[in-house]
This record gives sequence, C-alpha cells and structure tokens, in this order.
Amino acid sequence: MLNAISILDEKDKRLREISQPVVFPLTSQDKELIKKMAAYLKSSQIKEIAKKYQLRPGMGLAASQLGINKRYFVIVHEEEEQKFKEYIMINPTIVSYSEEQIYAIDGEGCLSVNREVAGVVPRYARVTITGFNMEGKKITIRAREELAIAFQHEIDHLDGILFIDKVINPLEASSSMRGI
Ligand code: ZN
Repeated sequence: MLNAISILDEKDKRLREISQPVVFPLTSQDKELIKKMAAYLKSSQIKEIAKKYQLRPGMGLAASQLGINKRYFVIVHEEEEQKFKEYIMINPTIVSYSEEQIYAIDGEGCLSVNREVAGVVPRYARVTITGFNMEGKKITIRAREELAIAFQHEIDHLDGILFIDKVINPLEASSSMRGI
C-alpha cells in the first residue's frame, strides 16, 4: 500500500528553484506521483502506520520536494479525528486573502526540514486559491486557519521558498497576529 518516496532535504538546491507551470494533460508519471504523495501524507498521519513504517507525519508535499520542478502539491488535512480530506492543487494562485494574520503557535514543520526550528511564520488567516485538478478543471478553494497555513506553505515551495526563510520571533508576532 505504501510506495516509498524520497523527499529532498533542505540543503538540496532543487528546493530553491521556481517550479514551472504544468501543461495539461498530466503525464502518467505525474499522476502516479500525486497518488504516492497523497498515500504518504495520509499514512503518515495514521499513528499505527506511521510507527510501523517510521514515517514522519506531514500534511503537505509539493512536487519540488520530490525533485519534480512542476507547480503542484498535495495536502491531506485531518478534518476530524482520523477523517482526512485530500486536496490536489495544480498551478495554484492565491486570488484573495484576509487582512488578519495568524501563525501556528508550535511553529511550522516541513518534511524537507529535519530539525527543530525556533520561531513562528506569519500567514494570512484566510485565503482563496484557484488552480486546477488532475483533469485540468479549474477549482477554487477557500481555506482558513491550519488549512490556510498549509496552502501558503505549499505555494511557497513552488516559488523556492521554505518556511525557515520566514520565521520570526513569536514575541514580535503576538501584538498584531493571532496564534492558533
Ligand atoms: Zn514544506
């Protein structure tokens, strides 16, 4: 059930490249990779499976993290206890965002950053994103809170940006932003 994928580490320069727009139709390799990414993310959030296969839990992966220079990512969000919703987003654009900013109190994590990073990352509390699904149909997603953070984190990957570039001291954040 679980196909091995190898995730690039933060030191790999490929993570710093700007990913290229996807031209439809998707190649069969891209479709396969998307399935593997989704399977990994879901499995990694199910405790017994994560333990058995020693998976680091993660809710998002961008193609660039697997060395594929294309603008797509997968997010698997645990909406309720062990109930997951999968988002596959191709050629995404943030079309609007809230004035309000938030940050994850515990900081952000990334499957490409294998160390503890102190500090928090300011993000928009709500975002509207348009993009395309695997069939090339235009889709719009409105995300808030944790899911909004995940979308912004993954879109950054497509532009060669890692969360460690945006980390600030939580004391600087607390007055103007809301921690979640
Ligand atoms: Zn990441």
